[in-house]
Amino acid sequence: MTTDAPTGAAPHPSDRIDTSVAHPARRYNYWLGGKDNFQADRDSGDAMAAAFPTIRTAALENRRFLQRAVAHLAREAGVRQFLDIGTGIPTANNTHEVAQAVAPQSRVVYVDNDPIVLAHARALLTSSTQGATAYIDADLRDPEKILHHPELRRTLDLEQPVALMLVAILHFVPDPDDPYGVVRRLLAELPPGSYLAASHATFDHLAPEVAEEAREATRVGNAPGMINLRGRDEFARFFDGLDLVEPGLVSVAEWRAGAEPQPRPTAAEVSMYCGVARKG
Ligand code: SAH
Repeated sequence: MTTDAPTGAAPHPSDRIDTSVAHPARRYNYWLGGKDNFQADRDSGDAMAAAFPTIRTAALENRRFLQRAVAHLAREAGVRQFLDIGTGIPTANNTHEVAQAVAPQSRVVYVDNDPIVLAHARALLTSSTQGATAYIDADLRDPEKILHHPELRRTLDLEQPVALMLVAILHFVPDPDDPYGVVRRLLAELPPGSYLAASHATFDHLAPEVAEEAREATRVGNAPGMINLRGRDEFARFFDGLDLVEPGLVSVAEWRAGAEPQPRPTAAEVSMYCGVARKG
């Protein structure tokens, strides 16, 4: 339940936390084995796991992709600035930790619209002294707020390349909210040499009846849900006009995963596409 802040007091993020409905950030935390989740999140997570039993593998592999992508961008591409939208509840090896392990001067701006992530934001603000991190409480669907936010302007130099991280968030944005336009708008503000790294859930590899069951399960717990799963071509459109980095659009389990434990989970087991691409 949400409660009103006492008169005169600034609203505390926890006042906006509603534990009676499932939230994507807390459900993902549950699948990853974290402790920051409530009954509605676990009910929703279990319902989705009943329909799609490898969902925990999918969550872990997605998280591993995020970390490999950041490490690649920092090490091979030399990127020193990251705009990570859809941050999630902090866990091990967050974007700034991975980037600053390669280059301590890396600067990271985190953005999420869930008050529980805001409540945990201190764990994201543990920057190296040479680098910087910031947190913005905002919605991906409001790119102007993100781009003009004073914290972003203070932390990132938009004359220098930025990696835009949209990892496991785009499937929460339905087509009527114009996710393609939002991504275009964000990239338009970033200079050549910037990157887009994204992952996205898909039902491409599932039998239609399994996909339907999983889709139904997303409705448990009144969750805003994962109802905007897209196929490969629809995912590819987010990268229009960009140069994909090898190996292109693949399963999150396969992207530069040579050093990961073998054998890799199958594309069907993870059912998440990913890609990293450069703005020329
Ligand atoms: N990127 C992290 C976390 C993914 S979980 C990772 O891949 O490990 C998805 C996150 O996106 C959640 O924290 C959720 O709160 C956030 N999110 C979903 N829709 C959003 C929106 N419209 N604006 C901002 N954040 C959003």
